[in-house]
Parts: sequence; structure tokens; C-alpha cells
Amino acid sequence: MVVKIYRSARSLTKKVFETKKRGKTIGLVPTMGFLHEGHMSLIRRARKDTDCVIVSIFVNPAQFGPKEDFKKYPRDFKMDFSLCEKENADIVFAPKAEEIYPENYVTYVNVEKITDTLCGASRPGHFRGVATVVAKLFNITMPDIAYFGQKDAQQAIVIKRMAEDLNMSVRIKVMPIVREKDGLAMSSRNVYLNLKERMQAQSISKSLKLAKELFDSGERNSGKIINKMKKVIDKQSEAKIDYMKIVDTKNLKDIQKISGKTLIAAAIWVGKTRLIDNIILN
Ligand code: AMP
Repeated sequence: MVVKIYRSARSLTKKVFETKKRGKTIGLVPTMGFLHEGHMSLIRRARKDTDCVIVSIFVNPAQFGPKEDFKKYPRDFKMDFSLCEKENADIVFAPKAEEIYPENYVTYVNVEKITDTLCGASRPGHFRGVATVVAKLFNITMPDIAYFGQKDAQQAIVIKRMAEDLNMSVRIKVMPIVREKDGLAMSSRNVYLNLKERMQAQSISKSLKLAKELFDSGERNSGKIINKMKKVIDKQSEAKIDYMKIVDTKNLKDIQKISGKTLIAAAIWVGKTRLIDNIILN
């Protein structure tokens, strides 16, 4: 099947209208490219569920802070395109930044409260950028279903909240985290890691695995679990904890004693690379 590339929002929206008129459903997979198995799992699911699969590839400047890695974020459009071909996507939407944020652009979507914690606390303005670009992608592609990864747990919660709060008629599907053999969650940023850092990067998933084991053996005290998790990271010479938190999956508020559905989320720096990971306890 031929995958069509769109660079223009207007022409993509026109195509979407035509597709919907023929009674076809639209699945959207928003990405920043440099695709890996994590992204592929979303595309595959979209392919199963919907008639027309749109993969957006856009490194969104609005979600990077001034000192963050926007410039050096890995990009490889050729590879991304061939992976989209392999997974039988219908459309790749790869706009230039000026297409999404033209001159005089001033409108942003701000999801409050749940963006003040976790990654939102470490990366001010990040979720404003994410919510804005995703809202724009929803308007451009009018998807029946949009696919996100559990890897970015807070992002998925923020997008669900936004869609509900703003009465957007899109279903949000959140897919499980795809991991490397040693447990490291797949991420486009993993290419930043040198050999030593790559070894030490395992510690974030190891700490979460330990948390799950503690929980399964009856531990319910968040403080105790976090302390033990922190020790796993602290043993690594190149790793530094950004945050480690046990929170309610709805409001992302800290939980002292685990009872209902709970998110354990962590972010660490390994050298100059920031990694995130999480698990859900039921
Ligand atoms: P990104 O290109 O990093 O913005 O990610 C695009 C989408 O892929 C987001 O919804 C991510 O949560 C999802 N994603 C990234 N890495 C993984 C992974 N290892 N497993 C599952 N989904 C992922």
C-alpha cells in the first residue's frame, strides 16, 4: 500500500472529510518520529481498529523548554516513513513548524492542576505544548480514536482530561509500555545513552519492578516503597533521580497508603539524558 505524505494541515483535513464521508473511521497516532517498537505497537493497534490510519510525525517545539533537547532530538524521516509503510499506515502527516505555529500564533491549551506535578513540575510549560499540539492534531485529523502510550503516563491522563473537558468527540486509547529485553522502556531518547549509561538506565525499570514486588508481598506504605526504589537508582554512578512518586491515577495527588488504582511514576537523569517510566498498581 502506498503511504501518502501530507505537509499541509488544510489538505489533510480535506482528505479526512472525504474519507469520513465514505463512512470510514480515522485512527490517529501522534508521534515525534524516530519511531521504535513502542510507536509501532500504537500504529498496529490503530490499523486493527480503524479504516484510515494517520501517523503524525512532528517534533513539537512548544513542548520543549528553552534549555531542553529540541535541536538535538533525533530525527530520521526516511526510516520513519519506511516503518509506517511496513505497518500499512495510510497517511503520514509531517508538517513544518510554521505550518502548526504560523506567524502571529497565540492560542494555547492549558490543562490545570494535574500538570503541576511529576513531569509538569520538572518541565514547566511542557504539557501546555503537548495539549496544544494534540488539540490541533485532533482538529486537523478529526480522529475517531487516538492512540497514546502508557510510557508517558501523565501525558495520557492530561490528554484524556483535555478531551473530556473540551467535549472533543475522540476516544483515547492508551497502549502498554514496550520495553527492551533488559526492561528499559523504549524511547527515541535512548540513542543519547553511551554504553555505561545504557547499562545504568536499567535501574529505572528495576526500581519499578522492585516496587511491584514490595506491593505484591503486602507493602502498602508509599514512603517505604519509594525509599527502597531510590536506593536502586542511588547505586548508579551516572544516575540522578528527578522524581519518584506514588500517586492517584485520576488527580495525580500523592498517596501515602496504597489502596485503589495507583500510579508509580519515576524520572531519572542518566548523564545528560532524562528518562521516564512507570507502572500501575491495581
Ligand atoms: P513520542 O514520539 O515520544 O512523542 O511518542 C509518541 C507516542 O508513542 C506517545 O503516545 C508515547 O507514549 C508512545 N510511546 C513512546 N514510547 C513508548 C513505549 N516504549 N511503549 C509504548 N508507547 C510508547
